Amino acid sequence: MEQQNHTAESIMELIEQLPKEERNKLHKLLTDIPEVTSELEEYLTEQRFSSGRVCPICGGTHVQRNGRRKSGAQKFICRDCGKTFSITKNTVFSGTRKGLEVWKEYMDCMSEGLSLDKSAERCGISHRTSFTWRHKILDALGKCTDGDSLTGIVEADETFLPVSYKGDKSAFEVKAAGRKPRERGGENHKRGLSNELVCVPCAVVRKGGALSKVAKLGKCSTEAVEKVLGGHVSKEATLCTDEDASYRRFSKRNGNDLVQIKGGKGSVKGIYHIQHLNCYHSKLKSFLAAFKGVSSKYLNNYLTWNNMVVHKGGTLAEKTRRLLENVVAVLFEETCRAVPLKPLIPVLVKNQS
Ligand SMILES: [Zn+2]
Repeated sequence: MEQQNHTAESIMELIEQLPKEERNKLHKLLTDIPEVTSELEEYLTEQRFSSGRVCPICGGTHVQRNGRRKSGAQKFICRDCGKTFSITKNTVFSGTRKGLEVWKEYMDCMSEGLSLDKSAERCGISHRTSFTWRHKILDALGKCTDGDSLTGIVEADETFLPVSYKGDKSAFEVKAAGRKPRERGGENHKRGLSNELVCVPCAVVRKGGALSKVAKLGKCSTEAVEKVLGGHVSKEATLCTDEDASYRRFSKRNGNDLVQIKGGKGSVKGIYHIQHLNCYHSKLKSFLAAFKGVSSKYLNNYLTWNNMVVHKGGTLAEKTRRLLENVVAVLFEETCRAVPLKPLIPVLVKNQS
């Protein structure tokens, strides 16, 4: 069928031919449509459809405009999967009633490292919404760091953080996890690397990037290193570690040159040392301490926050832009309700006991 290019005038001519009731019905429909698209919608449309319209459900490219929702949001229909969606579909902004300015302000608060309450106050949202937004943003951000490849001189070593059930004191859950809750910031009294500690393998690139994730409870293993660094360290990278056998096995499997530093922390072998990494560990610990203890359940999110925002650095505006751009670029299917439904301890590797 031939597509006609209508103008407001040509449509008006058609409307004049309608019976009275139909014209009245149309009048009501038209006055219900808000005139302007929201700034958030505009921004998302620009970012998501920058190289053509793509369906966020099936990835199809046969996407057409399909009327508007009552809220005024533009609807689209995908001719490949037949589904209709609005531009916020599968983004962290899905279902939001707040505008882009509020979200940007919230990301500014995150760039500044503000608390949930302070962020809530500044953005005019509830404590609960502040919590949900923080973790939706970080969950999305965690997804887009997955493809990062570390190259050049990569310093790697694990760090250990105490298990924390902060915010999850329901007896059933704690019992199911096999231990009593410890108050925030409590010291770990058991000697050695017990299951009271989560093992977090970390890697930093001299030029800037960093990667870290919870791997398991207790001491480190080759498998743990593999799970966190595997697929993220380029073959050309030179790994720089202490004398741990886990990293020796990992670098052999991954095909990396390896320089192991005898004597640990302060030692140097030519240009090789792990001082950037030691510095990363201590900065990470102060970052986490500022939140007065972080629950193990959300630790991966705080690691992402530290790596993508704090460690990468830049001005406040640069940090916020990085947050916004990365969050928009990712397909995010999680609902608000799913945010707290994480395992109490998010391990990648089962403990060998
Ligand atoms: Zn589709």
